[in-house]
Amino acid sequence: MKLDELPVRQMKGVSAQKELELHAFGVHTIADLLDYFPFRYEDYRIRTLGETQDGEKATVEGKIMGNPILQRYGRAKTRLTCKIAVDGVLVTAVWFNRHFLQDQLVPGRDIVLTGKWEQKRLQITVSESEFPDKGKARSGTLQSVYSIGGSITQQWIRKTIAQALAQYGEMVEEILPAALMEKHGLMLRREAVRHIHQPDDIAQGQAARRRLVYEELFLFQLKLQAYRSMNRKRMDGVAHVVEGEAIRAFSRTLPFELTDSQKKVVNEILIDMRSHACMNRLLQGDVGSGKTVVAAIALFAAVKAGHQGALMVPTEILADQHYRSLQSLLGGVGMQVALLTGSLTATQRREVLDGLQMGLIDVVVGTQAIIQDGVYFRSLGLVVTDEQHRFGVNQRSVLRRKGLNPDVLTMTATPIPRTLAITAFGDLDVSTLKERPRGRKPIQTNWVKHSMLDRVLGFIRREVEAGRQCYFICPLIEESDKLDVQNAIDLHIQIQQAFPDMRIGLLHGRLSAAEKDEVMRAFGANEVHVLVATTVVEVGVDVPNATLMVIMDAERFGLSQLHQLRGRVGRGGHQSYCLLIADPKSEIGRERMKIMTETDDGFEVSRRDLELRGPGDFFGTKQSGVPDFKLADMAADFEVLEEARDDAAELTARAEFWTEAPYARLREALRKDQLFQGELLD
Ligand code: ADP
Ligand code: MG
Repeated sequence: MKLDELPVRQMKGVSAQKELELHAFGVHTIADLLDYFPFRYEDYRIRTLGETQDGEKATVEGKIMGNPILQRYGRAKTRLTCKIAVDGVLVTAVWFNRHFLQDQLVPGRDIVLTGKWEQKRLQITVSESEFPDKGKARSGTLQSVYSIGGSITQQWIRKTIAQALAQYGEMVEEILPAALMEKHGLMLRREAVRHIHQPDDIAQGQAARRRLVYEELFLFQLKLQAYRSMNRKRMDGVAHVVEGEAIRAFSRTLPFELTDSQKKVVNEILIDMRSHACMNRLLQGDVGSGKTVVAAIALFAAVKAGHQGALMVPTEILADQHYRSLQSLLGGVGMQVALLTGSLTATQRREVLDGLQMGLIDVVVGTQAIIQDGVYFRSLGLVVTDEQHRFGVNQRSVLRRKGLNPDVLTMTATPIPRTLAITAFGDLDVSTLKERPRGRKPIQTNWVKHSMLDRVLGFIRREVEAGRQCYFICPLIEESDKLDVQNAIDLHIQIQQAFPDMRIGLLHGRLSAAEKDEVMRAFGANEVHVLVATTVVEVGVDVPNATLMVIMDAERFGLSQLHQLRGRVGRGGHQSYCLLIADPKSEIGRERMKIMTETDDGFEVSRRDLELRGPGDFFGTKQSGVPDFKLADMAADFEVLEEARDDAAELTARAEFWTEAPYARLREALRKDQLFQGELLD
């Protein structure tokens, strides 16, 4: 019998009600119960008062020296005190609402107290107490603390797990290959499960935890690496047949020469595209590093090879912008580019859908909707996603269900430090654009106080008179969309009053798609000098003539968001500036402003952001594709994660992993994962 086939209901003491509550914690089987790990330990080992700091919680032994005194106060509240000799000191023990203990506090009797020690008053506020003459329960040991709720108490779960360990503990099977356990000095799974619940000492509990954390991270990485290697082997993707000369000829039609970095990543992408295996590649590059043109070349290659391409973006503003730039790049060489967004009329939409199905349209640009139901392609060869987190496994399976298996290129401007990339993107190949186009000057960033608004306005005038344009970003009000918009409207009025002779545009989330389009078109054509906007312009917007980015109340934004906003300028040959208006009250706010003024390198910004916040938080803020681990902690267990990744990559690359007996349990674990449903594993 296998533990993961034995329902938890089999345990003595698990009633139908308890079973339901356990299900809510994800505990269905005996195996789940044994894997319901504690998150910390309470230390009930006996100490002396001399070892205990003032205010600390401790467990001490003593002898009752006087009669208890019971006081009642409020409604049904009680305070029970009693003099106890502990390590030769007479202390006062205080219990709240434990009046039923009164009769048991008999002078001369031994007692064990757990509670908070207050040195000055020689007092212990007791949270738990025991009488050694009744047999020991808690004291003298470490007690596991579990996450609990409902009718499940710490005592109950401890007892039930202890019983499960006694009955089934020896049946816990090993899952890790012996070589890996030896390499990292890890204990057997059977021992680890026992010791994490019932450690003899802290060190043993930690060693057990280390083993189980490694296992958790290793299985996670194994999944990603297996998926990746399976994708490499699976030769049912689109093999794009395209001549290098055709690509070079297309590159020559571009208005600029590609940077070395761009050439390098284009080559990496083309190698993947030519292969029968499915491309799953992440292209990361700082804002302004020129990712769009790389996407355009990849789309060109797909079409040249007789297939279709799709470019997926997060907002309609971006869809529109990319549509126009692809129109001019690809339209110039006779390719048909279409825009598919929510604001098309029914007739227009029908036309695009028919065109895609019949193959009259070569490249479609739009939001998520372009790969959804009701959209059919004649032959989809490549999907590019821009500025969004990742092309998820789910989206891929939507496509696979439609019989499509395109190459996928995911572009992101949020540079992720390598170490973090391996957790979020362990199943992807990564290309990085390391340089920005030649002739770009670093963006000069200054931090100014609100009291200096006049000088900021002077700066705006100077830039506009020199023929340049500005963005003015309104403070972000996360709690209220309505206030956010109101802010933008107020600021727009204020700026317009300051510059009656200039054209001031306004862009926020509440405008209709057509209104947004018109504002962006006018700004792109330099008919609008200053664009007052909310963070809707955060990603992707490309107006090279804009040279000044002013961010109001900059302390309200996170570092990566500030960097993204700043990336809207410095996209042409002119010197560009970013002014951060902020009077931060917090240390972290000041630190952010400092980092922004010290560097305009996105990789450096995110490295320092990580330092400032820790990886947990870094991932916590945006949906990142990183799972919630049961035991592992992204911040604390980072090195283990890296080891686990290397081990998993090495293992999945070896042929015997897919066939040999010692890895059968690992393969079985993979097979059970949703990611591999319906896939042929070996
Ligand atoms: P991002 O990586 O932020 O998406 P874009 O692709 O929007 O950057 O490119 C930023 C700007 O740089 C655009 O105006 C683009 O036309 C220009 N650009 C891209 N590649 C080059 C290059 N090799 N030389 C000069 N300008 C370039
Ligand atoms: Mg872009």
